[in-house]
Amino acid sequence: MDKQQQQIGSVAESAEDALQHIIEGFQRFRQEVFPQQQALFKKLAHEQTPRAMFITCADSRIVPELITQSDPGDLFVTRNVGNVVPPYGQMMGGVSTAIEYAVMALGVHHIIICGHSDCGAMKAVLNPDELERMPTVKAWLRHAEVAKTVVAENCGCANHNTLGILTEENVVAQLDHLRTHPSVAARLASGQLFIHGWVYDIETSEIKAYDAEEGAFRRIGDGPLPMATPRARYLPN
Ligand SMILES: [Zn+2]
Repeated sequence: MDKQQQQIGSVAESAEDALQHIIEGFQRFRQEVFPQQQALFKKLAHEQTPRAMFITCADSRIVPELITQSDPGDLFVTRNVGNVVPPYGQMMGGVSTAIEYAVMALGVHHIIICGHSDCGAMKAVLNPDELERMPTVKAWLRHAEVAKTVVAENCGCANHNTLGILTEENVVAQLDHLRTHPSVAARLASGQLFIHGWVYDIETSEIKAYDAEEGAFRRIGDGPLPMATPRARYLPN
């Protein structure tokens, strides 16, 4: 066997291992986990009433159900590279569709946008040269450009934690975009919907939440829960 064939063989082997791990996990779920929660799955078979919509990064290290200890049916999750929410009207894509469905059809009362530490998308926003080979990612991350400008104009480039600040500013920017969606704006105005901006730290498990009144992120668990929701202006219909 020549070297090239050997390499192809070892790639195939590790790809097979990865899939095998997933299949074995599914079998364990079916045989051990599912029987213990059968009542829950029976209840969920024909309806969902999630507690919240959760918009986060596609990063494999962020597991919304794990970090909020939620069950199936609890969270309506939408994930994408950089936990981005395109402003309304710019892109009738998956994120906008999920938001409209969650608010109008499911009537969720909370939307959480959750960024995270060590985010590859945020690193790419800081170093756009890396994106030359990935034109789709580059185009998508234009929706995070606003955060980069806010940081560049206000924080100075010598700051050692630019990535951390950019990650927070990106969450603030995506909250702003979220409010441009008519379904969201209408229910915020009548106090039926609450929006939240979080940043999750992979290494420590800490979550910081955006406090709109203070204009700052504060740890969840230190004092009252930080709120990102603007004040309601109408009584609900
Ligand atoms: Zn990320």
